Amino acid sequence: MLKLSCEKSVLSMSPHHPPIAMANSGDTVIFETKDCFSNLIQCEKDMFSSIGWDRVNPATGPLYINGAKPGDVLKVEIVDIIVAPQGTMVTSANLGVFAPYGTEERTKIIRVENDRAIFNEKISIPIDPMIGVIGTAPADEDIPTGTPGTHGANMDCHRITKGAVVYLPVNVDGALLAMGDLHALMGDGEVGMSGVEIPGEVTVKVTVLENYDIPTPFVISGNDVMTVCTEETLMQASASASVAMARFIAANTDMDFEDASMLLSFAGNLCTNQIVDPLMTARYEMPKWIFDAYGYEFR
Ligand code: CA
Ligand code: CA
Repeated sequence: MLKLSCEKSVLSMSPHHPPIAMANSGDTVIFETKDCFSNLIQCEKDMFSSIGWDRVNPATGPLYINGAKPGDVLKVEIVDIIVAPQGTMVTSANLGVFAPYGTEERTKIIRVENDRAIFNEKISIPIDPMIGVIGTAPADEDIPTGTPGTHGANMDCHRITKGAVVYLPVNVDGALLAMGDLHALMGDGEVGMSGVEIPGEVTVKVTVLENYDIPTPFVISGNDVMTVCTEETLMQASASASVAMARFIAANTDMDFEDASMLLSFAGNLCTNQIVDPLMTARYEMPKWIFDAYGYEFR
């Protein structure tokens, strides 16, 4: 099976990066990933501010998928996520929502033992490994991997776990898929500036879908389906994710836009991915069975 080394990574999603490997639609590929600090924080004396932004959020890739062309959708099935035995959390004195309230910079090493992340001697919880950065190349821009957008990237969606399906836009030939920034765990909002940042390995199956009208990025995870939207403010991102879901429902059922909008607050949930990246990301989750009830089948 094709395995991409974490030594070959990018710091932006760009149509100009040469691919490090090629795959065919339907192939399964392993992405080995460094943590979002390029594995440079190894103990609690190593501080985030010592790393430099030119080392933050490396994404392994890009992978060229043969046959993918602009207008297609890239379906990425998350077959497995394996994480290392040690993760890292940080705070910052001048970044994130707590900075104006006086947080000092700190590094906390989080051990993973028996599939549990250990916060302290009283608190440990089972890990739920997820992918923070996963995206394709934008059409004609070079966007830092730390900035999320319509091309995916740093969406910090904690529902992108083993078994999830991520639909991404294809903006350039080959799609140019890259990923990194794994978290052993992350709470919605990522308010403390980081998840449990951790190196690992992601196994994905990539499939090119032609003529598929689905609002990307889109995620299926567990019993839910979700739109993921990034905007300047959380309010805008929340509205965009809600509208995208309502339009998708109206387009694929016999409901009109008004009925679909009511269905969202009848059966769905607006959730906050993250509020600590350069742009804000929200998602709208709906139970998948609603689509099943209308005979809609996700490709
Ligand atoms: Ca992230
Ligand atoms: Ca992260």
